[in-house]
Amino acid sequence: MTQEELQALQSEAIAQVEQATTIQAVQGVRVTYLGKKGKVTSLLKGLGKLPKEERPAAGAKINEVRVAVEKVLQDKQTALEEAALAAKLQEEQIDITLPGRKAPQGHIHPLTKVNELIQDFFMKMGYTVEEGPEIETDYFNFECLNLPKEHPARDMQDSFYITDNILLRTHTSPVQARTLQKHEPNSPVRMIAPGKVYRWDYDATHSPVFHQVEGLIVDKDITFADLKGTLELFLRHIFGEETKLRFRTSYFPFTEPSAEVDISCVMCGGEGCRVCSHTGWLEILGCGMVHPNVLKLNGYDPDKVQGFAFGMGVERIAMLLYGIGDLRLFFEDDVRFLQQF
Ligand SMILES: [Zn+2]
Repeated sequence: MTQEELQALQSEAIAQVEQATTIQAVQGVRVTYLGKKGKVTSLLKGLGKLPKEERPAAGAKINEVRVAVEKVLQDKQTALEEAALAAKLQEEQIDITLPGRKAPQGHIHPLTKVNELIQDFFMKMGYTVEEGPEIETDYFNFECLNLPKEHPARDMQDSFYITDNILLRTHTSPVQARTLQKHEPNSPVRMIAPGKVYRWDYDATHSPVFHQVEGLIVDKDITFADLKGTLELFLRHIFGEETKLRFRTSYFPFTEPSAEVDISCVMCGGEGCRVCSHTGWLEILGCGMVHPNVLKLNGYDPDKVQGFAFGMGVERIAMLLYGIGDLRLFFEDDVRFLQQF
């Protein structure tokens, strides 16, 4: 093969490499020229047919072609690989200037909020927070709160009984009895008991499970004035300094005298509206002086100490604070409702 023919073969190979646009095409050119049966390879194999003295020179020339073609092939392949990588990077590029995706975050349930508000107030007043079982005995739920077996006031509370003597507690009052019994007789007690209670009721203002906070003070010389002052401070803390209070006589088996406490309507300020049934007042909690029998039944001497107690529904307070019309919304887990708080 002449020098010109060799040169032409080299040019032909280089031209094909330059036209290749894919790595596969480059591989194809490599096979065509440098493969086992490739054109350049065949020339090298054919060297044996030349006279001995011509072989080194011819071999060197063919080898130059091989090296030149190999270099162009390698360069092209590298260029194509780099282009492919660049394209891939471009395609997968992440825009770090985009705002991140926020994981949905929960927040505190309105009932928990109100519970914390109430607890916070009384803890600052020096009350302890006491807890008791939600599955309660008849003895603690009724009997030691001055509600003996045949007491007609038991009808006021439709209860979930488990056996004749065990039920889901109908109020947080058993915690009062349990706390008194834990203490040395006649020693001072200042406590609140927040928690779930259960009654057989279900409508827009009643749920079979709801939350109460109950308070109890027992000490020497506790009077109704102490009760009134405490509740005034508390209710104005929750509903605002302008809130007016009204005490109405009432009946509870565990207190004597007993009272219902009303506050001036939070919606109309006392003018009268739909929420307060046009009376200007809202019923908010029950209270009274601890009945001497309750003190006696729990080991205390009513001639030595006195006390007052009060109890309120957490749902009721939350409904008035946030203007919620239906109590069932608290328990339906509807995110659209809960997100508003
Ligand atoms: Zn009103």
